[in-house]
Amino acid sequence: MIDFSVARRRMVEQQIIARGIDDQRVIDVMLQVPRHLFVEPGLQSHAYSDASLPIGEKQTISQPYMVAAMSAALDLQGHERILEIGTGSGYQTAILSLLAKRVYSIERISLLAGRARKVLDQLCLSNVNIKVGDGTLGWRDQAPFDGILVAAGAPDIPTEYLSQLEIGGRLVLPVGDRLQQILMRVTRQPDGSFKQEQLMGCRFVPLIGEQGWRTDNTD
Ligand code: SAH
Repeated sequence: MIDFSVARRRMVEQQIIARGIDDQRVIDVMLQVPRHLFVEPGLQSHAYSDASLPIGEKQTISQPYMVAAMSAALDLQGHERILEIGTGSGYQTAILSLLAKRVYSIERISLLAGRARKVLDQLCLSNVNIKVGDGTLGWRDQAPFDGILVAAGAPDIPTEYLSQLEIGGRLVLPVGDRLQQILMRVTRQPDGSFKQEQLMGCRFVPLIGEQGWRTDNTD
């Protein structure tokens, strides 16, 4: 029988703190959220390993460090309304729900959205709205957002995200080709212009939709 809380503490120490994440709120929620509930039963013993893992439907739960780094890059205080694209397992959603006031999350595969909803409900994380659809168009009815986090790789920055970002808000997303991307942070400045920063190299599954890749064919 694995002691998941010991595995989780080790994950946070070795993968998160040791690699320079120093946002205490991010560290605290990574210690709190039971990542093993977001993976298939057969993979639970790997849930705290330093890797992304398959969640079915050709998709993956992101590596713990990447979840922490993206969350820290949003620099959340607790009052924010966040748009997340690519709910997947719902793990990143859970982390964001504890760091911000409300999370609006979009997933294109309804099977994954349904599973994520169940785990979030089980954990009583009630400040999350999940919708099934093309997240490259954002969520116009709920915009603007203080933060937008995209968990799938885009060929370019979808313009909808820029227009749905609040002044002072941050957009964190991987941009590049289908196999590798650069994690970018775009901040909407008080004068309405956008500051762009390149944070690190990364590998995500493709963002598929009208303002992303047009098909999920990887050939
Ligand atoms: N944060 C998730 C990552 C899942 S992988 C986790 O850690 O579990 C990325 C997810 O983005 C996949 O579930 C994929 O189906 C979804 N996705 C890809 N393109 C999308 C789009 N246009 N709109 C919404 N979700 C999308």
